[in-house]
Amino acid sequence: MRSGSAKWSSTISEVGGVRKVGIFGGTFDPIHQGHLVIAEQVADTLGLGIVIFVPGGVPPHKPPTSVKASAEDRFSMVEVAVADNERFCVDRVEIDAGRPMYSVETVPLVKERYEGDEWYFITGADEVSNLLSWKEPDSLLAQAAMVAATRPGYDISNLDHLAEALENYEKIVPVECTRVDVSATRIRRMLAEGKSVRHLVPDGVFEIIHDRGLYGADEAREDRRSEKRLSGSTEA
Ligand code: ATP
Repeated sequence: MRSGSAKWSSTISEVGGVRKVGIFGGTFDPIHQGHLVIAEQVADTLGLGIVIFVPGGVPPHKPPTSVKASAEDRFSMVEVAVADNERFCVDRVEIDAGRPMYSVETVPLVKERYEGDEWYFITGADEVSNLLSWKEPDSLLAQAAMVAATRPGYDISNLDHLAEALENYEKIVPVECTRVDVSATRIRRMLAEGKSVRHLVPDGVFEIIHDRGLYGADEAREDRRSEKRLSGSTEA
């Protein structure tokens, strides 16, 4: 069975013999526990057999300088983060394209590479609210249902603006997830301030960040240590 012949519903779980596939695109700069929690809980709620993480090269809607780690470093972090979850995998399609890609272009390429009957494009609530600013949102929805995973600080109870504008609005599937109040922006900021992000990211990601000196983490930590030493000697 190909996508389109299956029933779409926010409540379906496993339907016998149907391969349900999730595609999870993002900058993952870096990947963090918020991403992993929604991927796992969406997969569990919708009965997805596999979630394919697709780290982006340079996202078309962001200036190139807004992405801090290289595509290869971000890919390595996703690879290590998903390694111990048998349902998760990572794909290089956007990174290898070496150019900005819109989700409406990425989804068909991913669909060619994996077996699947029902396709779900996973996003956080913030992204779904902005769907009208995406390239060809109706075509994207025609190719894959869009999961709106709840995210702290964003409200998906009112998506009326989408209902009015999109023919395929019914293919948006809200999924209630445990709220993990973390963002890659906050993690990068903490690292730049020399703070620990241990446990906000998986251990393997934490190690890559420090081994490769990403996000200015180690310089900032060193500065912070020196400041502490200095303030200690003043007090003595
Ligand atoms: P940044 O802070 O750099 O914008 P981010 O933390 O939002 O990054 P992205 O890689 O841009 O991470 O996000 C990929 C997808 O994951 C997006 O659809 C986003 O909405 C979702 N997402 C990210 N963090 C969370 C979270 N804590 N809870 C729910 N969804 C999230």
